[in-house]
Amino acid sequence: MTSSRPRVLVVGAGVAGLGAAVWLARRGHAVTVREAAPSPGGLLQPVDFEGAGYDRGSHRIHGEALAFLRARLPVEGWVERPRRGVLVLGGRQARYPLSPFNFARALGPRTTLRMALGWVLRPRRWLRFRRWEEDRRADAADRDEGYEAFVVARVGRSAYESFYRPYVEKVWGVDPAELSASVARQRFSSSSPLSRLWSAPRAETFWYPPRGMGDLVDGLTKEASLLGVTIETDAAAVTSSLRGWPAVLHTGPLETVAYTDGLSRRGLYLLHLRFAGAPTDEVDTWYVPGEESFFGRVSRPAAFTGAPVDRGSTVLAVEIPEGRWGTGVDFLDPPTAIVRQLFDAGILRRATTLLSARQTFVAGVYPTYRRGWVASWREAMASVTSLGNVYMAGRQGLFLHCNIDHALASALAAARCLSEGVPPAKWAVEAAQWLDVRVRD
Ligand SMILES: Cc1cc2nc3c(=O)[nH]c(=O)nc-3n(C[C@H](O)[C@H](O)[C@H](O)COP(=O)(O)OP(=O)(O)OC[C@H]3O[C@@H](n4cnc5c(N)ncnc54)[C@H](O)[C@@H]3O)c2cc1C
Repeated sequence: MTSSRPRVLVVGAGVAGLGAAVWLARRGHAVTVREAAPSPGGLLQPVDFEGAGYDRGSHRIHGEALAFLRARLPVEGWVERPRRGVLVLGGRQARYPLSPFNFARALGPRTTLRMALGWVLRPRRWLRFRRWEEDRRADAADRDEGYEAFVVARVGRSAYESFYRPYVEKVWGVDPAELSASVARQRFSSSSPLSRLWSAPRAETFWYPPRGMGDLVDGLTKEASLLGVTIETDAAAVTSSLRGWPAVLHTGPLETVAYTDGLSRRGLYLLHLRFAGAPTDEVDTWYVPGEESFFGRVSRPAAFTGAPVDRGSTVLAVEIPEGRWGTGVDFLDPPTAIVRQLFDAGILRRATTLLSARQTFVAGVYPTYRRGWVASWREAMASVTSLGNVYMAGRQGLFLHCNIDHALASALAAARCLSEGVPPAKWAVEAAQWLDVRVRD
């Protein structure tokens, strides 16, 4: 007996594509998944270092996302671990996420005083600062005032110069005046002290699949196979090949399917470094926004699940956004600068020897949100609509900087539209809700 539901091509076998494939197969669609890489997983595909699989940088599940993922992913034995983050700023270290006290400590007394004085002298600035959260509506992005104007109008020039400017210059590699205000809305509403200032500091925990993030896609891959989904790897789907399918759910980059020149991305250098000697403290992740280092975040995989436990030596995963450095840089030739910066930041506490190192470049992993990008996004989605059968979803498909649960939820919503015969044009409008997504660090 053949199903009356249309055959579906799912492009991309990351968590979004696989999650959608399983959902569609359960609804009776015949599903084929095409993945460009040699194996499924996308960003959750482990990186090989010394013959072992390591997650791509600091990957974990936030408490808010757990129930959603648990209900949808076939993973048993989730592990809960306390969050032990540290912010490194101007040689100072403060626990992260920041409490009001730690925020002031990280900024330093002079900058904190200036920021507070600015609020007293300009009450409007204070009011705007308090409205930071409400001002994160996506429609505001159409009147994109830019990142610099948005932040300065709320925290003043001094705090902007010491914290917010260097961070985005390093991470985005774009003049902050050219960057969209949505960057401030999306990222800092969750990762900076601003939203945290109102809530009492609380102990946070992260959740991990027992053998690392690869578990999420392994479970989905197995389930997809049981449901009769065909998964083709090493099989990049080109746009011209999408026409022959009744319906396509696409989780590859939006700008490769659409006609647009307004959307661009940056990659990530991921370094795995093994040092002699056991770790000196219990920190799992260091956030390093300042200009003095290449990296923006460093983590200790052994503090997460999945990675081999450190025995007598320490592995660090160092994340260097392409940002201002550009592509084609070999940070390990020689590794001297990185090692010195890890010492200067207080991440390596004592003289130790680098035993082995590996650099991986993950291309196009972060969207570059320039001013006015929402208009380009709409243009791109409209251009995809003209193909007539394609539903964009997931992190790359919707040009999102988002978490795992957001990527999966967007793909499940797209799959539902596709299955219920909602036209792609209507989905393209509905999908705009994901632009307002709030990234958790
Ligand atoms: C360094 C880093 C740390 C992160 N940490 C966290 C975290 O702690 N917690 C959290 O919740 N999220 C985290 N994320 C985000 C999370 O990894 C992603 O949001 C999620 O994995 C995206 O899933 P996806 O399936 O939408 O996209 P992807 O994983 O990017 O999958 C898309 C797939 O499509 C394939 N593809 C693209 N084009 C084509 C084509 N034309 N034909 C065939 N295949 C194609 C790609 O090869 C890829 O496999 C992190 C991301 C990064 C980069």
